[in-house]
Amino acid sequence: MSLLHRAKRGLAPWIAAALTASALTPSLALAQNAPPGVAGVPYEHMPQLAPIGARVDKYLDLPEGAKGPAVDPAKGYRIQDLGQGLYMVTEGAYQSMFLVYETGVVVVDAPPSYSAHIKQAIAEVTDKPITHLVYSHSHIDHIGGAAGLGGHPIIIAQEETKRLLIAANDPNRPLPTITFKDTYTLKVGSQVLELSYHGVAHEPGNIFIYAPKQKVLMVIDVVFPGWMPWRRWALAQDVRGYFNQVAEIDKVPFETLVSGHVSRVGTHDDVRTQLEFMNDVKAAAATALKTTKFGAETNPADAGNPWAGFDNYIDRVVVQCVNTVSPKWQSLLGGYDVYIWDQCYAMEQSLRID
Ligand SMILES: [Zn+2]
Repeated sequence: MSLLHRAKRGLAPWIAAALTASALTPSLALAQNAPPGVAGVPYEHMPQLAPIGARVDKYLDLPEGAKGPAVDPAKGYRIQDLGQGLYMVTEGAYQSMFLVYETGVVVVDAPPSYSAHIKQAIAEVTDKPITHLVYSHSHIDHIGGAAGLGGHPIIIAQEETKRLLIAANDPNRPLPTITFKDTYTLKVGSQVLELSYHGVAHEPGNIFIYAPKQKVLMVIDVVFPGWMPWRRWALAQDVRGYFNQVAEIDKVPFETLVSGHVSRVGTHDDVRTQLEFMNDVKAAAATALKTTKFGAETNPADAGNPWAGFDNYIDRVVVQCVNTVSPKWQSLLGGYDVYIWDQCYAMEQSLRID
């Protein structure tokens, strides 16, 4: 049996027919003879990691560094003592904090996924009331449990967050009562939180929250300790700003990073690992943009369709990007296979247009 015959076994009839029609340039022939709009043969050097939209039977196993302390399923959350009255609360996927001072409690973020547990978590430690609430940023998945905390705490946020919350008009996210532009120091009793704004990365208004006494930094949706960032650089509204902000986080003299996601807190090593990964993706995408030939694998019949030309070109840039970074990183980051395609697509786009 010839190579061609072997290759044709198991193919859809229209693919097999196309292959027979042009044995000399099988890949192009297949691509050209698939019904319009239907996936043709894969690009050259297509990675084995499933692309966006393909169903995966079993994702890559998680590396040890991606795993955090277990959460008691009966309880539904875990408290971590960060020292001197500061605590992290997590249900395993989201993280928030609370800070106890002489006469009350400051809550930082209230994810709706476990907002009912925040009051329970505080009650484990103190019977003092919640007097202040700090919003890290406006996103509903981190502060949508704010109204559920009850009472009338003083709410502090960056002014862009207030602007976005006015637009959102969401009763679950009450408007801030105190806003600031660059920095704000919250002093309550003997406790201090230093809030600062470092520009747009994830979202306008997303701030650094630093507890100097405890050496704890909280920045949400930017660093993902042990994990691949959420898709498209965690939905960064400014990808260049996002890269800068990860480097800036590393400059803060923290000992513990509360990042808002995953099941454990982070360290400077986690920040540097992520930055190294990000720079590898950036370099791979930049090289792929330079070396990929526009139109090389497009169907001449699509000549009048520039969207098609770009789709084909960008796909091949991303194929090369994924192939370049995977050997080093796929066993190091939790969820690598889930979002590597998204990161390469976001990267090539940012490099082309930002
Ligand atoms: Zn967010």
